[in-house]
Amino acid sequence: MKIAIFANNRPKSQAVKHKLQQKFIERHFILDDEKPNVVISIGGDGTLLAAFHHYEDQLGDIRFVGVHTGHLGFYTDWRDDEIDDLVISLQSDNGQAVSYPLLEVVVKYADRPVRERYLALNESTLKRISATMVTDVYIGGELFERFRGDGLCVSTPTGSTAYNKSLGGAVVHPNLEVLQIAEIGSINNRVFRTLSSPMIVAPNDWITFKPTKGSDFTLTVDSSVYHDREITEILYKISKKRVYFAKYRHNHFWQRVQDAFIGTETDEDRMDL
Ligand code: NAP
Repeated sequence: MKIAIFANNRPKSQAVKHKLQQKFIERHFILDDEKPNVVISIGGDGTLLAAFHHYEDQLGDIRFVGVHTGHLGFYTDWRDDEIDDLVISLQSDNGQAVSYPLLEVVVKYADRPVRERYLALNESTLKRISATMVTDVYIGGELFERFRGDGLCVSTPTGSTAYNKSLGGAVVHPNLEVLQIAEIGSINNRVFRTLSSPMIVAPNDWITFKPTKGSDFTLTVDSSVYHDREITEILYKISKKRVYFAKYRHNHFWQRVQDAFIGTETDEDRMDL
């Protein structure tokens, strides 16, 4: 097994990286940043996102492992004080994995005949800051609505707890192969109408945005931002590719959601109520 370690620059993450490297050398693991089978991300969910995009072209050959050095994340299963257990799990690895859907983003730019393709682990947004964004929204090739507002967000199930959640979108269990559309500041009055609620789109449907006017849109794909070219059409669909995580132990998804957003109420907290 060839292992790569991908850490953010925080001193704590770098310290964990050095500790892990030492343990791997002692146990004769092969460290290979170029063509790894397992990528260990050390930091937060943002670090895992960066690792995902760094190894985006090799997704079929890689399983990710997330170690968190801050708070528990959605892509990070291991605490930094559990790295001895992680090393033991890697030693007895038998290829166990869990995989999740990814979002394919196909963009037609006005100045190019060939469409550009991007892959998102969390989400992609289309926004306009200078003026109202006016975009026709198609689902499965059929016109659904003309959206007017700040923007739209299309997220994966694992991305549903990120930007999508801040927009009032639903948290989606990652075993479901669906996409979600959430509005960003839609205009709704007697003249303009949008659905005004998040939509969960079935696996075989695809979503198309066709901006009707303006050329100054901002497209985001996870942490990347593209805003220098005129977009005429964006197609969103579930990718044929998936992201794989090494699955050494079971983490209950809803428990993770509860930890991240609700927290555990202590007896003392209850006494205060
Ligand atoms: P960032 O602005 O430094 O971090 C954004 C926050 O999102 C971090 O706290 C990160 O967790 C968390 N996060 C990332 N993926 C998540 C997931 N799947 N579920 C729950 N939380 C998640 O930017 P970044 O670290 O490069 O991350 C980019 C992401 O930021 C985008 O994909 C988007 O989802 C999110 N974002 C959110 C908003 C918003 O909520 N209003 C606005 C813009 C972007 P860690 O602290 O563990 O890294």
